[in-house]
Amino acid sequence: MPSGLDAAFVRRAVGKGDLNAVRLALCQITRDPELLDLPPVPALDEAGRALIVEKAVTWLVENAGPRKLPEPPPGELRRLMELAAGETVSDVEFDFRREIPAFNDHPWATLWDGQRPSIPPGFTVAVVGAGFSGVAMAIQLELLQIPYVVLEKQSEIGGTWSRNRYPDVRVDTVSLGYEFSFEKDYRWSEYFARGEEVRRYLQLVADKYGVTENVRFDTEVEAAEFDDQSSTWRLAIRSPQGRDTVTANVLVTGMGTFANAKLPDFESQEDFRGEIVVPSRWPDELDLEGSRVAVVGNGSTGVQLLAPIAAKAEHVTVFQRTPQWIAPRPLYGTPIDSEVHWLSDNLPGYWNWQRYIHNSALFGAYDLMLNDEEWVAGGGLVNPKNDKLRDDLLAYIRHQTGGREDLIEKLVPDYAPFARRPVVDNGWYEALTRPHVSLVTDSITGLHRDGIRTADGRLHDIDVIVAALGFEVVKYLEPAVFTGRGGKDLHEVWERDGPRAYLGMMVPDFPNMFMLYGPNAQSLPSGHQLPAMFVIWASYIGQCITTMLTEQKSRVEVTEEAFGAYNQRLDAQAAKLIFMDKRGAPDKNYYVNQQHGRLQVNAPWWGPDFHRMCSRVDWDDLHLA
Ligand SMILES: Cc1cc2nc3c(=O)[nH]c(=O)nc-3n(C[C@H](O)[C@H](O)[C@H](O)COP(=O)(O)OP(=O)(O)OC[C@H]3O[C@@H](n4cnc5c(N)ncnc54)[C@H](O)[C@@H]3O)c2cc1C
Repeated sequence: MPSGLDAAFVRRAVGKGDLNAVRLALCQITRDPELLDLPPVPALDEAGRALIVEKAVTWLVENAGPRKLPEPPPGELRRLMELAAGETVSDVEFDFRREIPAFNDHPWATLWDGQRPSIPPGFTVAVVGAGFSGVAMAIQLELLQIPYVVLEKQSEIGGTWSRNRYPDVRVDTVSLGYEFSFEKDYRWSEYFARGEEVRRYLQLVADKYGVTENVRFDTEVEAAEFDDQSSTWRLAIRSPQGRDTVTANVLVTGMGTFANAKLPDFESQEDFRGEIVVPSRWPDELDLEGSRVAVVGNGSTGVQLLAPIAAKAEHVTVFQRTPQWIAPRPLYGTPIDSEVHWLSDNLPGYWNWQRYIHNSALFGAYDLMLNDEEWVAGGGLVNPKNDKLRDDLLAYIRHQTGGREDLIEKLVPDYAPFARRPVVDNGWYEALTRPHVSLVTDSITGLHRDGIRTADGRLHDIDVIVAALGFEVVKYLEPAVFTGRGGKDLHEVWERDGPRAYLGMMVPDFPNMFMLYGPNAQSLPSGHQLPAMFVIWASYIGQCITTMLTEQKSRVEVTEEAFGAYNQRLDAQAAKLIFMDKRGAPDKNYYVNQQHGRLQVNAPWWGPDFHRMCSRVDWDDLHLA
C-alpha cells in the first residue's frame, strides 16, 4: 500500500468519480475477466456497481500512483469502447473515436513521415488569430518545426474567451472535451469552466508550446493578396506602430465565427438616457445593483447571464423574440472535487476514459436532426428520438416554471429541439418565476429616453439594456479583404450564395489559403468538440504543407470540380436534416444564411463521415504545383 494512503479517502474518491471510467480503466490495467464480463455501467445493478467499487478500492490501495497507460492495441481499445455504452462500434466510428481517450501524445497531429526536408529559406506560414483555432494551427507548425507568425488584433491570447467577460460566461460544452487532447489532465475547477479559466488555459498552452513568442499582438490584418509570380500571400497589417506588410507562403485564418457581435440598432436609440451594454464588451465596472435591467435576447449568452443579473438588479425585463429549447445539463455549475482530481492522477487511464465518456454523450445526437418522413406520415413530428426529447423538455419547462401557464405558453418553441443551437439552462426558467423578473414577448419598436417601447404600445422603464443579440456569422472573415488569383475578391465570390468552402477550408483561386472554422465547418453534435476539430483541420493543413515541402511545390489549391461536387453533396445532405424546413426554424437561425436560404455555419455531415473527410487529404481534389 502506498505510504500514507487512507482507504476511506480512496473509497470516497471512487464514489465521487465516474464509475464507468473507473471500470474501463481497471479493465484496461488488469484485464480482470469478472469486470470485463459485467454489463455496461448504465445498465448495471447495485451488486455490479459495488463489485467495481470494491475492486477499484483494492487496486488503488495497493497501486495508486501517477502513471500513463499506453494506447491499447486496436482490438482491445475497441472492446473497451464497446463496453463503455454496450454498443458495437463500426469501423468508421472507431476511426472517429479512437483518439478521444487521447492515449497518444498528440492525437491527430501531422508529423514528418521520415526525415524533415530542408525548408526553403524564408518559408513562413501566417496564421491570423490567436484564439483556439489559431493556437491549434501554431502548435501543429511547432511540431513540424515550420516557421510561422501569428497576427492577432487583440492584446492577448484567447479570442472568444478574451472578448467575452460578461457575468457567468462559461463553456456550455463539457470542459474535458473543450480542451486540447495533447494537453492532458488540466486541473479544471468545474465541469463547465468559466470563461476566464478557459482563457487562462489557452494562454498556458500557448506559452508551453512556444506559440506566444511568435504572436504579434495588437496587429490587425486588413487585407491579404495572393501574388501569382511568387506564390505568396502579402498581408497588409495595422498595429500601433502603423501600417506594414507581411509576406507568407501559406495563409491560415483562425479569425472566429463569433468574432463580430450584432450591435444594437433600435429605433430612436439616441434618445435613451440609460446605458446599453453588449455582452462581448462588458464594462468591468458595471454595477447593476438596484437597477432596472432589460435583457434583450435568449440565446446562449442571454440565458447564461440572466440569473446573475437577476440576483443583483431591482427589476429585470427579459425581451424574447423567439422561444428557445433550453435544457438542463448534468454537472453544469458543479465544481470538480479534489478527490476526483486525485483519481485522475492516481488511477491510470481514468482521465482518458472519463474524457471518452463525457464526449460519448453526443455520439447519438445526429439522429435527432434527421427527418424521418415515415414517422411524420404516421403522425410524428420529426423522428421518434427528437419527439421524445421534445416531450422531456416540455415536462422540464413545466417543472421549472412551477406549471405557470402564462409563462409556458410563451416559452414553448414551434420548431424541433436541435434545429437551433441547444441552449443550456443556467437557472433561466427559475429566474423568470421570480417576482422582480418579467418576460415580454411583444416586439421592440424602439427606445425612449426612459426605456423600451414594445408593439403593444407599452413603455418599459429601464436603466440598463443588455443587448445579447448574437453574432454576425454571415459576415465571415469581414472586414478584412482577401484577393486571390486573377484579382478575385473572396467576399465577391461569396456574394452569389453566401460563404462556401471545400471542407470549410479551401476555395478555388485562393491557393495556399486555408480557413479554420470556415463556412459549413461547425460539426453537428457528434462527440468531437471544436478544439478537437481545430486540431484535425490544422493537421489537414499540416499534410498539405508537408507535401508541398517534400515535393518541392509552391502552391496547393482545391480544384473547381472538387469544390463544386463537395458543395453539391453538402446541400443534398443539408436537405435531409431538420434545419431548412418547417420542422426547423430557417428564418430565425444563425446556422442558416437568411439571404440565400442555405445552411451556412454547420457541416451537415454525420461526425464520423466529416472526420474521415477532414483527417486525410484526398489529393484527387487538390491541385499541387
Ligand atoms: C460566448 C460564447 C460562448 C461559447 N461557448 C462555446 C462552448 O461552450 N463550446 C464550444 O464548442 N464553442 C463555444 N463557443 C464558440 C467559440 O467561439 C469557439 O469554441 C472557439 O472559441 C472559436 O475559436 P476561434 O479561434 O476559431 O475564434 P475566436 O475565439 O473568435 O478567435 C479569433 C481570433 O482572431 C482574431 N482576429 C479576427 N480577425 C482578425 C484580423 N483581421 N486580424 C487579426 N486578428 C483577427 C480575433 O481578435 C480573435 O482573437 C462560444 C462562443 C461564444 C461567443
